[in-house]
Amino acid sequence: MRNGSVALLYHRAAQDAVDPWRLAVEPEHLSEHLEILAKHTRPVTAAALRSARERGHIPPRTVLVTFDDGYADLVTEIAPRLRRAGVPATMFIVSRAVDRDREFWWDALARALIGPDAGTGVLRLTVGTRASSWEVGGVTPRQVVYRDVWAQLRSRPAEERDELTDQVVSWAGLPLAARPTHRTLQSAELHRLAADGLVEIGAHTANHAWLAGLDPAGQRREIQSGREELEAFVDRPVTSFAYPHGGWSDVGATALEAVRETGFDSAFLASSGRLRRSGDIHRLPRLFVENMDGEGFARLLWRYAGIDVS
Ligand SMILES: [Zn+2]
Repeated sequence: MRNGSVALLYHRAAQDAVDPWRLAVEPEHLSEHLEILAKHTRPVTAAALRSARERGHIPPRTVLVTFDDGYADLVTEIAPRLRRAGVPATMFIVSRAVDRDREFWWDALARALIGPDAGTGVLRLTVGTRASSWEVGGVTPRQVVYRDVWAQLRSRPAEERDELTDQVVSWAGLPLAARPTHRTLQSAELHRLAADGLVEIGAHTANHAWLAGLDPAGQRREIQSGREELEAFVDRPVTSFAYPHGGWSDVGATALEAVRETGFDSAFLASSGRLRRSGDIHRLPRLFVENMDGEGFARLLWRYAGIDVS
């Protein structure tokens, strides 16, 4: 089918040599993507997409640009480029990452275990009730160690996960404070973004929780407080949501129900697919965009949405 519609999932505009989740798109590449979108598609926010669905018709080539998590790049690199291209975007922000002096836990962990400053030697952690140890920088590739530690930490409540991350960073002999290249938004910056006519702010839980790992009450708390805290920052209703970690297996029926109960009008996963006028508005797909130039991006739009920009 030609001229379909999609939501695109980005995280950062940065050059990051240590990027195990491929979250960083080079700023120049993002500019190329936005130029293509401005010229060949109909870019909309989540709120505009919802209205289109209510009218029963999503115009061909509708594209929703989204950014997850709340890196400071949103103000320094991304908002100026959106403005230049005239492309609106929806930004899903982790409420307790705002004004925090730490990096996102997956970045801090990557710095301590993979990057040029990474530690070497035996790392011992007690995760929950389970004591584990890893030989870091030994025969097992650092990436494999990283994935293993990451998977163990992901399943823990936020407080414990953050405490364990601090332990790993200290073990590597690194400071706990965020690198300027990996810092998160400050509240004044978030406030400015929300006032930008091209930007809609959406929620992404309080602590970037892995919802499938929490009990129902814990899931509701993460989803509700994420919304309330963001609304206090931006002084306006927050009506869209994106599930952290975002595959359906990371979410589940309980979280879906909590998102509906909390009153979100739309919610996004991180699994690819096209936007359609029917289907569950609390399970909308998004296409993950990696670092690629304009040509690669054009091929992606063609392959997944039948949008020809040649
Ligand atoms: Zn996220």
